[in-house]
Amino acid sequence: MIKLSQLNKVGEKTEKVLNKLGLETVLDLVFYFPYRYEKYETCSTISQIKINQPIIIEGEIDLIRNKKSFRKKMFVTEALISDDSGSLEIIWFNQPYLEKTLKAGDRISVAGKIINNHGRLIMMSPTYEKIDPNKEKIHTKNILPLYSLTANLTQKQIRFLINQSFTKINKIPEFLPQEIIDNQKLLDINTALKKIHFPTSEEDIIQAVNRFKFSELFIFVLKSYLLKQRLAKKVSMALPIKLGAIKKFIADLPFKLTTDQKKSTWAILKDTENKIPMSRLLQGDVGTGKTIVAFIALLNCAKNKKQGALMVPTEILAQQHYNSALKLFANWNLKIAVITSKSQTTNFTLTRPKKDWLSEITQQADIIIGTHSLIGEKIKFKKLGLIIIDEQHRFGVNQRQEILNKNIDDDHDITTPHFLSMTATPIPRSLALTSFQGLNFSIISEKPKNRKEIETKIVSPENKNEMYEFIKKEIALGHQAFIICPLIDPSDKLGTKSVKEEYEKLKKDIFRDINIAPLHGKMKLTEKEAIMDKFSKNEIKILISTSVIEVGVDMPNATVMLIEGAERFGLAQLHQFRGRVGRSDLSSYCFLSLSEPSPESLLLNKKINYDTSINRLTAMQKYSDGLELAKIDLKNRGSGNFYGTEQSGLMNFKFASLFDHEMIKQVEQEINLWTKNDPNLEKYPALLKKINQDLEESHLE
Ligand code: ADP
Ligand code: MG
Repeated sequence: MIKLSQLNKVGEKTEKVLNKLGLETVLDLVFYFPYRYEKYETCSTISQIKINQPIIIEGEIDLIRNKKSFRKKMFVTEALISDDSGSLEIIWFNQPYLEKTLKAGDRISVAGKIINNHGRLIMMSPTYEKIDPNKEKIHTKNILPLYSLTANLTQKQIRFLINQSFTKINKIPEFLPQEIIDNQKLLDINTALKKIHFPTSEEDIIQAVNRFKFSELFIFVLKSYLLKQRLAKKVSMALPIKLGAIKKFIADLPFKLTTDQKKSTWAILKDTENKIPMSRLLQGDVGTGKTIVAFIALLNCAKNKKQGALMVPTEILAQQHYNSALKLFANWNLKIAVITSKSQTTNFTLTRPKKDWLSEITQQADIIIGTHSLIGEKIKFKKLGLIIIDEQHRFGVNQRQEILNKNIDDDHDITTPHFLSMTATPIPRSLALTSFQGLNFSIISEKPKNRKEIETKIVSPENKNEMYEFIKKEIALGHQAFIICPLIDPSDKLGTKSVKEEYEKLKKDIFRDINIAPLHGKMKLTEKEAIMDKFSKNEIKILISTSVIEVGVDMPNATVMLIEGAERFGLAQLHQFRGRVGRSDLSSYCFLSLSEPSPESLLLNKKINYDTSINRLTAMQKYSDGLELAKIDLKNRGSGNFYGTEQSGLMNFKFASLFDHEMIKQVEQEINLWTKNDPNLEKYPALLKKINQDLEESHLE
C-alpha cells in the first residue's frame, strides 16, 4: 500500500485534505473517478478562436499583471498572449499568485471560454498550463475530467496527483473472470482506469463506463447470490399470524389502511409464518406510510413472544419511531426501548446498574428501536424474531448482514431473524418482478387519501421577501416550516448558506416574533431531542436544519419546506426533503431557493453555473413522483456526464443503476452459467477477495 505522502507535492496539509475525500492511499486516487468531463475544441491559431465556446489555445505571454478590481475585494490578473496570427486577452480572478508563476515569455496552453465584452475579446478564468515539449498536457486537453473537490483542493492539484499515481502503482489485478470479459467484450480493469481518467475520445469514456457499470452490477448480483446461499441454509422462528390482535390494532388506528398497505402487511405476515427466513423489501415513495406496516409486523412478532428490532439511520428518526411506538402501543403492554450510541430509553423500569442496561434491554424488551448502534459489539438479543431496517439505502450491506447475526438463544439453538428492509428509493417495476438480490418485493404505490400535490416553486434571490411573507402567513395559520441549509458553519464559499448564520439572520431580520430554532448533526443528542420534541408540539414554528432531517422525519403539521442552495442538491435528495411536507391533508409548499450568484458570475453577467441545476429544479416542479425523478436523474447522468455524484438505486453505485435492466439480465445470466460449475467461486480467488473487501468497506456515510 503506497501512502499519499510518497507523492510529489503531498505534504501533511494536502494529505489531510485528501483524507477528507476518503482518499488514504495512492490506489484510492486511481479509483477516484471524475464526476464529469468538459469538452474543448483546439484552435490552432489565435486568429481562429471562437467566442462563447470551450476552446484550447496556445500562445506566448507578452505581459501579465495583477490589479485590484473595482469591487475592491477582488484581485484581477490580466495577461496578454500571442502567436504569429494575433493576440488574446485573458483575465483570472482572485489568483494573485499567477503573476509569480507565469512570466512574460512563457509559452502556455489555456482552456476556457472567450466572451465579447463590448468588442473586447477576453478569455475568462481559463485553466492553464505551461507547455513542456517533453511532457503530455494534463490540464488543457480536449476532454478534461472534473473531480469532486473539497476546500483547499483544486482540479489542477487532483489531476496532477492522479496522473502521478499511475506512475507509482503496478498493474491492478483483474477481478472479473477472463471468460466474462471476453464474452461481454469489456475493457480490462487497467485499460478502463486509464480511459476514465485520461480519455482521448467520447468512445473511451463510454467503454470505460460500460466496464465499470458491468463490474459494479456483477459484484452486486454476485454478493446477493452469496448472501442468498448463506440464508438458504438458515432457519428462523415461525411467527404464526395473531389475527385477532392485528385486527384490533388496525381497527384502533386513526385512519384506514390503504389497499397497498394491507397487501404489504399481509405478504410480510405470511412470510414470517415460515421457518425459512424472510428477506423482503418494502418500497414506497416518501409519505406512503411504510412505518405502520412495520409496526404491525413488530406487533405480531411480540404477540408471539419474540423480539423485534427496528434499525434506522439517524438518532432523530430513532426517537421519532420510539415516540410513535409508545403512542400506537399504549394499550398493548409491550416493553419498548430505543438505543442510540449515546443513550438508552425504555418504557419499562430498568433495575440493574447503568452499565448493564444494554444487556437488560436486549434480554427484556419486546420492541427495540435504534440506530446502527444496534449492531454494536455489546448487543446480543435473546430471541430476535424479526429485524426491520428503515431507509435501508443508508446502510452498508455488511451492516444489514451483521444485525442478522445478533441472536443468542438460550438453548444454543441459534436462529436467523426474519428480515424486512424499507426504502423510498424507486425500484423499476421490471426489477421488482424478479427476485433480484434474493429479495422479495412489496410496493406501496398509492398515497393515503386526501393528500394534496405539493406546490413547488423555484425562488430567486429577488423574490425571497415575498416567500418569507408567505411563510409567515402559513405560520399564522398554525402550520410549521422547515428551512434546509447546505452547511452547518459559515464557509468561505461565497453565497452558500449555513445553519448557524442563517438562523441568526432570520431571527434578527425576518422572523423576529416567531419561535425558530437551529438543528444540525453536531448538536448534542439531548439538544436535538428537545428541539424535535418542541417542534412536534408546535412550540417551535420553524426549524433551520441541515440535511439531518432528510430521511424519515414525520411532522404532519409542517406545510412549508424551503431548501436554500437548492442547486447544490441532487434530485433524489431534493425529493426526500420535499417529502417532509405534504404528510397530512393540509396543502403544502416546497421552495427551491437559489444561492446568491458569486461576484465572479456577476462580472461575467451570466449565471453559467446554474444552467444544469435549473433543469434539475424544473424537473422538481414538474414531477412529484420519485420514480419519474429517478429516471431524469439518470438521464442527466448519462447525457451531462454526471457520474457518482448523486446517490441512486439501492446501492451507492458510481456508474450503474437499477434501471440498467438489460445489463442486469446479462450479469445474472453470466453468474448463473458460471456458478453452476463453480458454486463456491473457488476458481476465482481474486473475485472472492474483492467481494469480501467490499463487504468490509461498505459502511454508514
Ligand atoms: P413513509 O412511507 O415516508 O415512512 P410514514 O410511515 O412516516 O411514511 O407515514 C407518513 C404519514 O402518513 C404519517 O403521519 C402516518 O401516520 C400517516 N399515514 C400512514 N398511513 C396512513 C393512511 N392509510 N391514511 C392516512 N394517514 C396515514
Ligand atoms: Mg419513513
